[in-house]
Amino acid sequence: MLSAKAYAAHKAKEALKPFTFDRRDPGPYDVVIDILFCGVCHSDLHQVRDEWGFDNAYPMVPGHEIVGRVEAVGSSVKKFKAGDMAGVGVLVDTCRTCGSCQEGLEQYCEGVIIWTYGGVEKQTGKPTYGGYSTKIVVDENYTLKISPKLKPQEAAPLLCAGITTYSPLKHWGAGPGKKVGILGLGGLGHMGVKLAAALGTEVTVLSSSSKKKEDAQRLWAHKFADMSDPKSFQEYAGYFHLIIDTVSAQHDFTKYMDLLKRDGTLVLVGLPATPPSIVPFALTGRRRAIAGSQVGGIKETQEMLDFCAEKGFGADVEVIPMGKVNEAFERMLKNDVRYRFVIDMASLKG
Ligand code: NAP
Ligand code: ZN
Ligand code: ZN
Repeated sequence: MLSAKAYAAHKAKEALKPFTFDRRDPGPYDVVIDILFCGVCHSDLHQVRDEWGFDNAYPMVPGHEIVGRVEAVGSSVKKFKAGDMAGVGVLVDTCRTCGSCQEGLEQYCEGVIIWTYGGVEKQTGKPTYGGYSTKIVVDENYTLKISPKLKPQEAAPLLCAGITTYSPLKHWGAGPGKKVGILGLGGLGHMGVKLAAALGTEVTVLSSSSKKKEDAQRLWAHKFADMSDPKSFQEYAGYFHLIIDTVSAQHDFTKYMDLLKRDGTLVLVGLPATPPSIVPFALTGRRRAIAGSQVGGIKETQEMLDFCAEKGFGADVEVIPMGKVNEAFERMLKNDVRYRFVIDMASLKG
């Protein structure tokens, strides 16, 4: 067994505290990763506090934006060798046989998805623990390659925030000639802006925080709409082909649907704890659609990582020691993050 140091929630709504546990011994297809950095996703906060009503098991070690150095590999591993940089995202295994898995859409596996934390490990029947920890053992098929062109701390948020925005941008055809709105400029939103701009689409930030205007421009947004000003809803009425909604809290969907053109789509990636409500005319009037999207498959995640490496960008990060993670959660709730907290795991190793 490999001993790992971590921070865990021991109960819903309690602060994270130090925790030690054992990772499984690597099997023939496993990669042992010495974790260097792990991003702090708003889903970690929702999950730690059991806001989605999943009746979560505790202790919970969150973290699914993991980048580290390969320490050892199993005898049959082909993709990695010791010393390589590797990444792990939101899932660490799936059924591998259903239609979605066969198509590389593991995030929609029709069997059981083994989430990076809060799941049950196939190999041991024990709980999965995430990346707020010093080590992880993952099957090579669910491990990503991280280019040396990317700084590891800036690459970590790509494993969730990056792929969660890249996948719907690609699926709904963002690119030249299309107008895309990114609703909410947080961890997901800021990656959505960079990725949309890099894909050659016109991108507008739709934000409730007027003070983020300069940041939006720096992040390559073409336009900025301050949604705390009612005039913005008139100015952008019927404007967008696609809106990616990354907002983590309850908000009025009907108002944002009116910003879409005929046949436009609002894609929900944000997961507020309360169910959305919508006036049906906002959809029927212009044949508009509301859709959802969940992270991305392994192949598409690799494609996105390579795209970012080739274009030379990762996330905008604030690196913190593990001891500041509870404060980071509170700051995230106050919208005080530019634009992703990333934990430096050296602070836990000592
Ligand atoms: P985040 O960094 O906290 O950003 C959320 C943004 O939403 C904020 O920066 C803010 O942007 C906006 N916002 C927050 N409260 C608001 C309110 N009351 N009214 C209007 N806007 C508000 O969170 P994140 O890590 O990007 O995650 C966003 C959401 O996506 C979370 O619910 C998370 O669970 C979910 N998620 C889903 C997937 C998936 O696969 N679908 C994957 C990862 C995360 P402005 O200041 O610009 O308004
Ligand atoms: Zn996430
Ligand atoms: Zn499957």
